[in-house]
Amino acid sequence: MPVCPTCHAEYMDGRVECVDCGVALIDDLSEIDDDPEEADGHFVPFRTYPSRVFAEMIVEALAHQGIPAMVKTDELFGSATGAATKIVVWVPDAQKEEAANVADGTLDPL
Ligand SMILES: [Zn+2]
Repeated sequence: MPVCPTCHAEYMDGRVECVDCGVALIDDLSEIDDDPEEADGHFVPFRTYPSRVFAEMIVEALAHQGIPAMVKTDELFGSATGAATKIVVWVPDAQKEEAANVADGTLDPL
C-alpha cells in the first residue's frame, strides 16, 4: 500500500503523491526505515594478527584499495604471558571478499 515518506499517511493503491505534502508516495515504509549506516558501514571482524605493525600494514593495503578497514585491539588474554593482546582487523561486511583478496595479495611472498 502506498505510503507518504514524510507524514507516513497510507493511501489507496493507485495514488502517486500525498495530498498533504505533495511528495511522491513510496511502496513501503521499510524502504526509509533501513539504517544506511547498518547497510553500508557495518564492520565485521576480518583477520587476527599477532602484531599491530602487521595489522596496520594490512589496513594500509586495504585503504589503498578503498576499503576503510580499522584495527581493534582485543585484550581477552591475560597479560602475564607477555602475549597479552591480539590485533583484529575489521572491514565493512560488504567488502569482506575484496579485503580477503587484498590481504592475501599482501601476504603473498611473491
Ligand atoms: Zn504526506
